[in-house]
Amino acid sequence: MTYTPNAQRYDKMIYHRVGKSGLLLPAISLGLWHNFGSVDDFENARAMIHTAIDLGITHFDLANNYGPKPGSAESNFGRILSEDFSNNLRDELIISTKAGYKMWDGPYGSWGSRKYLLSSLDQSLSRLGIKYVDIFYSHRPDPATPMEETMGALKTALDSGRALYVGISSYNPAQTQKAVGIAKELGFKLLIHQPNYSMFDRWIENGLQEVLTDNGIGSIVFAPLAQGLLSTKYLKGIPEDSRIKKPGASMDASVLTAVKLKQIAALNDIAQKRGQSLPQLVLSWVLRDDPSRRVSPVTIALIGASRPAQIVENVAALDKLDFSIDELSQIEEVLSW
Ligand code: NDP
Repeated sequence: MTYTPNAQRYDKMIYHRVGKSGLLLPAISLGLWHNFGSVDDFENARAMIHTAIDLGITHFDLANNYGPKPGSAESNFGRILSEDFSNNLRDELIISTKAGYKMWDGPYGSWGSRKYLLSSLDQSLSRLGIKYVDIFYSHRPDPATPMEETMGALKTALDSGRALYVGISSYNPAQTQKAVGIAKELGFKLLIHQPNYSMFDRWIENGLQEVLTDNGIGSIVFAPLAQGLLSTKYLKGIPEDSRIKKPGASMDASVLTAVKLKQIAALNDIAQKRGQSLPQLVLSWVLRDDPSRRVSPVTIALIGASRPAQIVENVAALDKLDFSIDELSQIEEVLSW
């Protein structure tokens, strides 16, 4: 099929500069970890990509292993790109992929060696059907491989034209500082860091944001909705069509503690008073600029979705990004329970 994107798609989306770089990314970007694999409904995946593009989302985040089956999210995204859009759209998109988790058997199919990262990147390009990715990540730090080797592989990805920018994911503050130093010695710059961050997991506030701010590196935070926990869907039980019920789910019902459910209900009351849904409140909060802290705000909230309507709802968070001091302290109070 041929799909013609909405001509007004760039009018409303907010684009944030990534650290001290020339790259702008949509404040809300879409990840393809779940619901884009070969086990999923392809037409639903296709509709989600169309919806995202129509809303001005230009950034799509992948990894070698996204599926299931591993690799199939890249294949499906590549298929949608080539079947639905003219080639010109490639220049309007920022496509990222990663390598770090197990992708194939044997000693070269995981972690952070030069052998694994560059072979995996070649495989990703082939599945995606594109000549280069915009951002290539080391998906996780490898305790056994010298970091010089992992960073050297990222530099080769850049120098060989397979990637325009590079980043790291889930490196802690000390590992990030070390990676920044090695990259500097090797003569390149890390563009971006991809950590997890949500109201329920605020680890990046303990040092990582400082390191990123000091080094002009942007942040794109994954699972800002805590995989859907930060919505009202689990307040009355576990819906059949929720992530928790998916075969081989990445989250199980044990996360639904009495305290969490009480917090979710209270946060929903705050959201309603602001005229937002709970996911909208949560995304506005992730992107908040808190002048009382010296760190740069989070650059991008990287959401997932299981249907197009969620993307529409979530992007509307950008209509109300400001918080009163009172609202922020009410949220802190609830999160302290
Ligand atoms: P989220 O926290 O945004 O969770 C997304 C899930 O929440 C959706 O699939 C959906 O689940 C539910 N949801 C989304 N919007 C709504 C809504 N408006 N109302 C109700 N429920 C909603 O992020 P993800 O966990 O999906 O992660 C996002 C992306 O981050 C990934 O796709 C991937 O690109 C990246 N990532 C990176 C990792 C890394 O190691 N670097 C690790 C994990 C993710 P449901 O099925 O219940 O409807």
